[in-house]
Amino acid sequence: MSDGAASFIAKSVVKAADLDHRRKINFNISKYNAVVPQGKEQFENVNLVRERAKNIKWRAIETLDKQLENFEAAFTKRGGKVIWAEDAQQALNEVLAICKEKNCRSIVKSKSMVTEEIGLNEFLEHHQIESVETDLGEYIQQLDGEAPYHIVTPAMHKSKEDVAELFHEKLNTPRHLTPEELTLVARDQLRQKYVKAEIGITGANFIISDVGAIAVTENEGNARLSCAFPKTHIVIVGIEKMIPSLTDLSLFWPLLATYGTGQRITVYNTIVSGARQAGEPDGPEDMYVILLDNGRTNILANQKARESLYCIRCGACLNACPVYKNIGGHTYTATYSGPIGAVITPHLKKMDEWRHLSYASSLCGNCTEVCAVKINLHELLLENRYEAVESGATEWSEKIAWKAWKRASLSRGLMNMANQKMKNWVVNKVFKGWTAHRADLNFAEKTFNQMWKDRKR
Ligand code: SF4
Repeated sequence: MSDGAASFIAKSVVKAADLDHRRKINFNISKYNAVVPQGKEQFENVNLVRERAKNIKWRAIETLDKQLENFEAAFTKRGGKVIWAEDAQQALNEVLAICKEKNCRSIVKSKSMVTEEIGLNEFLEHHQIESVETDLGEYIQQLDGEAPYHIVTPAMHKSKEDVAELFHEKLNTPRHLTPEELTLVARDQLRQKYVKAEIGITGANFIISDVGAIAVTENEGNARLSCAFPKTHIVIVGIEKMIPSLTDLSLFWPLLATYGTGQRITVYNTIVSGARQAGEPDGPEDMYVILLDNGRTNILANQKARESLYCIRCGACLNACPVYKNIGGHTYTATYSGPIGAVITPHLKKMDEWRHLSYASSLCGNCTEVCAVKINLHELLLENRYEAVESGATEWSEKIAWKAWKRASLSRGLMNMANQKMKNWVVNKVFKGWTAHRADLNFAEKTFNQMWKDRKR
């Protein structure tokens, strides 16, 4: 077993028994579950909308090379600069080069999982550049020195009391502030940062090919301020966020809002097509879009896993997953957790080091059932397991165990040779992995053949 897998199992065991964690997660997910059906009411036929969204993403991904080139041509026409980054290090180096050119010491940043993926904040801190998270959930996580817990709701595992205590500790605010008071404290702190920052960094929910723009969706207005206040705006976005046309947003915006947070439409939806143009009163002087690969073309090259690139990061599969709800987001130790994280992480990183995530599933199919763009998540998890075996990324003990199991279960004679006691002993004592977290198995007293004969008598 790899170190990563062993640590994952150890953390899962602790978290699954943490009843306080479970209470908070169940509370927050129950609020999500209550509003999603209301959001869905806006669609006459929500399944048709999901099907259409899947088709659009299929087209975008199948023609990704052309779509990216279209985007680049249209975006650069308006004075924007496009940077292609093959991996995390290249993206980081490009950001640093821009920071040096702009003499930047302070950055405001909106919520972006891609920046988590490349470790942007730690990198900037290492180079003595302050990078402040401006999304409230991310701000809370940054104050606490923790990674986001969930791709949509970064501080989902914290109660309002936890946040009040954190603000008290870190910002010296009075204890027991209400959520409204805490929000005002954060706003007060952040407003000063916008004014000071030389650069604003955002992600993008969509790259729009035909008009050469990016779209950002958020509820707090912080991403808008991060785009517009500083003199330079950098967007870091994974290449799979492509949609072919501006008109596709009329479908994706409500879909993302409903599946992400149960809203009909998210509060702020911004399309940015470049830096300030002549005659415009505001906006940055320079705008860069860093198109990040970082393993995505590995997924693109894989016929089966390719479908996972349709993901719009709504987070619905995390909220629906019985494993995620028990072990929580941090246990995965990957940027992307839950079912979608378990599917893509082994491809984005290394199959032999991350394959264990694809086994963290009951294969109940609930993730596939709720996916906004109908990705066959549970089948992709099975595909990953198949690929792991095919690539030889399994331990010899596992191979032997399955060979023995196959041999025995294909032979009625072998199955009948052992009596009930013997079978119980083999499964419960020899294969201890089974009983470590489950009740003992108890085989039937008589074999199937014996029961069949008895029945015929
Ligand atoms: S896989 Fe589907 S449900 Fe999960 S985050 Fe992506 S779009 Fe949402």
